[in-house]
Amino acid sequence: MSTAQSGVTPMVQAEGVCKSFGALPVLKGISLQVQPGEVTCLIGPSGSGKSTFLRCVNHLEKINAGRLRVDGELIGYRERGGRLYEMSPRDAAKQRREIGMVFQHFNLFPHRTVLANVIEAPMLVKGQSRDQAVARAQELLAKVGLANKADAYPAQLSGGQQQRVAIARALAMEPKLMLFDEPTSALDPELVGDVLAVMQDLAQAGMTMVVVTHEMGFAREVADQLVFMADGVVVEKGDPREMLTDPQHERTQAFLSKLL
Ligand code: ADP
Ligand code: MG
Repeated sequence: MSTAQSGVTPMVQAEGVCKSFGALPVLKGISLQVQPGEVTCLIGPSGSGKSTFLRCVNHLEKINAGRLRVDGELIGYRERGGRLYEMSPRDAAKQRREIGMVFQHFNLFPHRTVLANVIEAPMLVKGQSRDQAVARAQELLAKVGLANKADAYPAQLSGGQQQRVAIARALAMEPKLMLFDEPTSALDPELVGDVLAVMQDLAQAGMTMVVVTHEMGFAREVADQLVFMADGVVVEKGDPREMLTDPQHERTQAFLSKLL
Protein backbone atom coordinates (compact mmCIF):
# COMPACT_ATOMS: atom_id res chain seq x y z
CA MET A 1 0.00 0.00 0.00
CA SER A 2 1.12 3.53 -0.67
CA THR A 3 0.61 6.64 1.40
CA ALA A 4 0.80 8.87 -1.67
CA GLN A 5 -2.35 7.90 -3.57
CA SER A 6 -3.73 10.81 -5.50
CA GLY A 7 -7.38 11.72 -5.88
CA VAL A 8 -8.33 10.06 -2.60
CA THR A 9 -9.55 12.19 0.30
CA PRO A 10 -7.15 11.57 3.18
CA MET A 11 -8.79 10.26 6.36
CA VAL A 12 -6.59 12.60 8.37
CA GLN A 13 -5.00 15.70 6.94
CA ALA A 14 -3.01 17.97 9.23
CA GLU A 15 -1.51 21.13 7.77
CA GLY A 16 0.64 23.32 9.97
CA VAL A 17 -1.21 22.36 13.14
CA CYS A 18 -0.13 24.43 16.15
CA LYS A 19 -1.21 24.05 19.74
CA SER A 20 0.00 25.88 22.83
CA PHE A 21 -0.92 25.50 26.46
CA GLY A 22 -0.67 29.05 27.75
CA ALA A 23 2.77 30.25 26.74
CA LEU A 24 4.03 26.70 26.09
CA PRO A 25 4.02 25.74 22.41
CA VAL A 26 3.48 21.98 22.21
CA LEU A 27 2.65 21.42 18.53
CA LYS A 28 4.69 23.67 16.24
CA GLY A 29 3.27 23.11 12.79
CA ILE A 30 2.42 19.45 12.37
CA SER A 31 1.71 18.36 8.80
CA LEU A 32 0.87 14.79 7.93
CA GLN A 33 -1.67 12.68 6.12
CA VAL A 34 -3.26 9.34 6.85
CA GLN A 35 -4.89 7.60 3.91
CA PRO A 36 -8.13 5.65 4.31
CA GLY A 37 -7.52 2.04 5.26
CA GLU A 38 -3.96 2.73 6.33
CA VAL A 39 -2.15 2.55 9.66
CA THR A 40 0.14 5.32 10.86
CA CYS A 41 2.35 4.77 13.88
CA LEU A 42 3.45 7.84 15.78
CA ILE A 43 6.63 7.59 17.83
CA GLY A 44 8.81 10.02 19.73
CA PRO A 45 10.17 10.89 23.15
CA SER A 46 7.88 11.61 26.06
CA GLY A 47 6.62 15.19 25.96
CA SER A 48 6.98 15.56 22.19
CA GLY A 49 3.25 16.21 21.71
CA LYS A 50 1.97 12.82 20.48
CA SER A 51 -1.00 12.64 22.85
CA THR A 52 -1.80 16.28 22.26
CA PHE A 53 -1.87 15.69 18.52
CA LEU A 54 -4.28 12.75 18.91
CA ARG A 55 -6.46 14.86 21.20
CA CYS A 56 -6.55 17.60 18.56
CA VAL A 57 -7.66 15.10 15.89
CA ASN A 58 -10.54 14.22 18.20
CA HIS A 59 -11.15 17.89 19.02
CA LEU A 60 -10.59 17.23 22.70
CA GLU A 61 -8.11 20.08 22.31
CA LYS A 62 -8.62 23.14 20.11
CA ILE A 63 -5.81 23.99 17.75
CA ASN A 64 -4.38 27.53 17.59
CA ALA A 65 -3.33 27.55 13.96
CA GLY A 66 -3.31 25.39 10.87
CA ARG A 67 -5.96 23.10 9.46
CA LEU A 68 -7.01 19.67 10.66
CA ARG A 69 -9.39 17.64 8.54
CA VAL A 70 -10.87 14.20 9.07
CA ASP A 71 -12.38 12.59 6.00
CA GLY A 72 -12.25 15.97 4.29
CA GLU A 73 -14.13 17.84 7.04
CA LEU A 74 -12.52 20.53 9.17
CA ILE A 75 -12.44 19.39 12.77
CA GLY A 76 -14.18 21.77 15.17
CA TYR A 77 -14.55 24.63 12.69
CA ARG A 78 -16.50 25.73 9.65
CA GLU A 79 -14.80 27.72 6.95
CA ARG A 80 -16.71 30.53 5.25
CA GLY A 81 -15.14 33.07 2.93
CA GLY A 82 -11.67 32.07 4.06
CA ARG A 83 -12.52 32.57 7.74
CA LEU A 84 -12.93 29.95 10.42
CA TYR A 85 -15.90 29.83 12.76
CA GLU A 86 -16.02 27.51 15.74
CA MET A 87 -18.59 24.77 15.48
CA SER A 88 -21.39 24.34 17.98
CA PRO A 89 -20.56 21.81 20.72
CA ARG A 90 -23.34 19.67 19.33
CA ASP A 91 -21.77 19.51 15.85
CA ALA A 92 -18.34 18.91 17.36
CA ALA A 93 -19.74 16.03 19.39
CA LYS A 94 -21.21 14.57 16.22
CA GLN A 95 -17.77 14.63 14.58
CA ARG A 96 -16.13 13.11 17.63
CA ARG A 97 -18.60 10.24 17.60
CA GLU A 98 -17.11 9.00 14.34
CA ILE A 99 -13.63 8.79 15.80
CA GLY A 100 -12.83 5.98 18.23
CA MET A 101 -10.17 6.46 20.86
CA VAL A 102 -8.35 3.95 23.01
CA PHE A 103 -6.16 5.14 25.88
CA GLN A 104 -3.31 3.68 27.87
CA HIS A 105 -5.66 3.35 30.85
CA PHE A 106 -8.77 1.71 29.54
CA ASN A 107 -11.31 3.61 31.68
CA LEU A 108 -14.05 0.96 31.67
CA PHE A 109 -16.96 1.54 34.03
CA PRO A 110 -15.91 -0.67 36.97
CA HIS A 111 -19.40 -1.33 38.30
CA ARG A 112 -20.80 -2.51 34.96
CA THR A 113 -20.32 -5.78 33.13
CA VAL A 114 -18.27 -6.05 29.97
CA LEU A 115 -21.43 -6.22 27.88
CA ALA A 116 -22.95 -3.19 29.60
CA ASN A 117 -19.75 -1.25 28.94
CA VAL A 118 -19.91 -2.03 25.22
CA ILE A 119 -23.63 -1.35 24.64
CA GLU A 120 -23.84 1.90 26.60
CA ALA A 121 -22.79 4.41 23.93
CA PRO A 122 -24.55 2.78 20.96
CA MET A 123 -27.83 2.81 22.92
CA LEU A 124 -27.43 6.23 24.52
CA VAL A 125 -25.74 8.12 21.73
CA LYS A 126 -26.75 6.26 18.57
CA GLY A 127 -30.22 5.32 19.76
CA GLN A 128 -29.79 1.62 19.02
CA SER A 129 -32.29 -0.75 20.60
CA ARG A 130 -30.97 -2.96 23.36
CA ASP A 131 -31.28 -6.08 21.17
CA GLN A 132 -29.42 -4.41 18.34
CA ALA A 133 -26.66 -3.17 20.61
CA VAL A 134 -26.29 -6.52 22.38
CA ALA A 135 -26.08 -8.44 19.09
CA ARG A 136 -23.36 -6.13 17.79
CA ALA A 137 -21.51 -6.17 21.14
CA GLN A 138 -21.43 -9.97 21.09
CA GLU A 139 -19.95 -9.93 17.59
CA LEU A 140 -17.31 -7.44 18.68
CA LEU A 141 -16.46 -9.32 21.88
CA ALA A 142 -15.99 -12.45 19.77
CA LYS A 143 -13.74 -10.48 17.44
CA VAL A 144 -11.47 -9.42 20.32
CA GLY A 145 -11.45 -12.95 21.76
CA LEU A 146 -13.72 -12.30 24.73
CA ALA A 147 -17.03 -13.89 23.73
CA ASN A 148 -17.17 -15.71 27.06
CA LYS A 149 -16.53 -12.61 29.20
CA ALA A 150 -19.69 -10.63 28.46
CA ASP A 151 -21.00 -10.99 32.01
CA ALA A 152 -17.69 -10.44 33.78
CA TYR A 153 -16.80 -7.20 35.57
CA PRO A 154 -13.66 -5.30 34.55
CA ALA A 155 -11.86 -6.13 37.82
CA GLN A 156 -12.20 -9.84 37.00
CA LEU A 157 -10.23 -9.38 33.77
CA SER A 158 -6.53 -8.97 33.08
CA GLY A 159 -5.29 -5.60 31.84
CA GLY A 160 -4.97 -7.01 28.34
CA GLN A 161 -8.54 -8.30 28.41
CA GLN A 162 -9.77 -4.93 29.69
CA GLN A 163 -7.95 -3.17 26.89
CA ARG A 164 -9.58 -5.50 24.35
CA VAL A 165 -12.98 -4.62 25.85
CA ALA A 166 -12.07 -0.95 25.46
CA ILE A 167 -11.31 -1.60 21.78
CA ALA A 168 -14.65 -3.40 21.33
CA ARG A 169 -16.40 -0.51 23.08
CA ALA A 170 -14.84 2.01 20.70
CA LEU A 171 -15.71 -0.14 17.67
CA ALA A 172 -19.33 -0.41 18.78
CA MET A 173 -19.77 3.20 17.66
CA GLU A 174 -18.75 2.20 14.10
CA PRO A 175 -15.98 4.82 13.87
CA LYS A 176 -14.33 5.66 10.57
CA LEU A 177 -11.03 6.32 12.31
CA MET A 178 -9.43 4.77 15.39
CA LEU A 179 -6.87 6.58 17.53
CA PHE A 180 -4.74 4.57 19.96
CA ASP A 181 -2.63 6.33 22.58
CA GLU A 182 -0.01 3.88 23.88
CA PRO A 183 -2.61 1.12 24.20
CA THR A 184 -0.13 -1.45 25.53
CA SER A 185 2.15 0.72 27.65
CA ALA A 186 0.37 -0.06 30.93
CA LEU A 187 0.24 -3.82 30.34
CA ASP A 188 2.40 -6.60 31.68
CA PRO A 189 4.67 -7.73 28.84
CA GLU A 190 2.96 -11.11 28.46
CA LEU A 191 -0.39 -9.40 27.79
CA VAL A 192 0.82 -7.04 25.07
CA GLY A 193 0.73 -9.58 22.25
CA ASP A 194 -3.01 -10.30 22.44
CA VAL A 195 -3.86 -6.61 22.25
CA LEU A 196 -1.50 -6.03 19.32
CA ALA A 197 -3.00 -9.06 17.55
CA VAL A 198 -6.48 -7.55 17.85
CA MET A 199 -5.16 -4.27 16.46
CA GLN A 200 -3.47 -6.09 13.60
CA ASP A 201 -6.75 -7.87 12.74
CA LEU A 202 -8.49 -4.53 12.76
CA ALA A 203 -5.88 -3.08 10.41
CA GLN A 204 -6.23 -6.05 8.08
CA ALA A 205 -9.99 -5.56 8.06
CA GLY A 206 -9.34 -2.08 6.61
CA MET A 207 -9.73 0.22 9.62
CA THR A 208 -7.87 3.52 9.40
CA MET A 209 -5.72 3.84 12.50
CA VAL A 210 -3.30 6.26 14.13
CA VAL A 211 -1.31 4.49 16.82
CA VAL A 212 1.06 6.09 19.31
CA THR A 213 3.29 3.24 20.38
CA HIS A 214 6.73 2.09 21.41
CA GLU A 215 6.14 -1.34 19.85
CA MET A 216 8.54 -1.18 16.91
CA GLY A 217 7.69 -4.74 15.84
CA PHE A 218 4.07 -3.68 15.38
CA ALA A 219 5.15 -0.53 13.54
CA ARG A 220 7.37 -2.52 11.21
CA GLU A 221 4.82 -5.25 10.48
CA VAL A 222 1.53 -3.37 10.48
CA ALA A 223 2.07 0.32 9.80
CA ASP A 224 1.95 1.84 6.33
CA GLN A 225 3.56 5.01 7.61
CA LEU A 226 5.84 5.81 10.52
CA VAL A 227 6.03 9.34 11.91
CA PHE A 228 8.76 10.43 14.31
CA MET A 229 7.91 13.48 16.40
CA ALA A 230 10.15 15.44 18.74
CA ASP A 231 9.56 18.78 20.47
CA GLY A 232 6.29 19.40 18.68
CA VAL A 233 7.50 18.88 15.13
CA VAL A 234 7.54 15.97 12.69
CA VAL A 235 11.24 15.19 12.37
CA GLU A 236 10.90 12.36 9.88
CA LYS A 237 8.17 10.27 8.32
CA GLY A 238 7.98 7.52 5.78
CA ASP A 239 7.96 3.80 5.17
CA PRO A 240 8.34 2.04 8.55
CA ARG A 241 10.82 -0.57 7.37
CA GLU A 242 13.02 1.98 5.63
CA MET A 243 12.90 4.36 8.57
CA LEU A 244 13.64 1.70 11.16
CA THR A 245 16.49 0.26 9.12
CA ASP A 246 17.96 3.49 7.88
CA PRO A 247 16.72 6.58 9.74
CA GLN A 248 17.79 9.75 7.94
CA HIS A 249 17.71 12.23 10.79
CA GLU A 250 20.16 12.25 13.66
CA ARG A 251 17.37 12.63 16.22
CA THR A 252 15.51 9.64 14.82
CA GLN A 253 18.71 7.59 14.96
CA ALA A 254 19.31 8.57 18.58
CA PHE A 255 15.72 7.78 19.58
CA LEU A 256 15.64 4.41 17.83
CA SER A 257 19.05 3.32 19.12
CA LYS A 258 17.72 3.74 22.66
CA LEU A 259 14.63 1.65 21.91
CA LEU A 260 16.05 -1.24 19.94
P1 ADP B 1 3.60 12.92 24.56
O1 ADP B 1 2.27 12.26 24.43
O2 ADP B 1 4.41 12.91 23.31
O3 ADP B 1 4.39 12.39 25.72
P2 ADP B 1 2.04 15.22 25.36
O4 ADP B 1 1.23 15.59 24.18
O5 ADP B 1 1.36 14.48 26.45
O6 ADP B 1 3.37 14.46 24.88
O7 ADP B 1 2.65 16.53 26.03
C1 ADP B 1 3.41 17.46 25.30
C2 ADP B 1 3.70 18.65 26.21
O8 ADP B 1 2.48 19.35 26.45
C3 ADP B 1 4.28 18.30 27.56
O9 ADP B 1 5.23 19.28 27.89
C4 ADP B 1 3.08 18.39 28.48
O10 ADP B 1 3.47 18.72 29.78
C5 ADP B 1 2.27 19.51 27.85
N1 ADP B 1 0.83 19.39 28.09
C6 ADP B 1 0.03 18.40 27.66
N2 ADP B 1 -1.25 18.60 28.02
C7 ADP B 1 -1.27 19.76 28.71
C8 ADP B 1 -2.29 20.54 29.36
N3 ADP B 1 -3.57 20.14 29.34
N4 ADP B 1 -1.92 21.69 29.96
C9 ADP B 1 -0.64 22.11 29.97
N5 ADP B 1 0.37 21.43 29.38
C10 ADP B 1 0.07 20.28 28.76
MG1 MG C 1 1.43 10.65 25.46
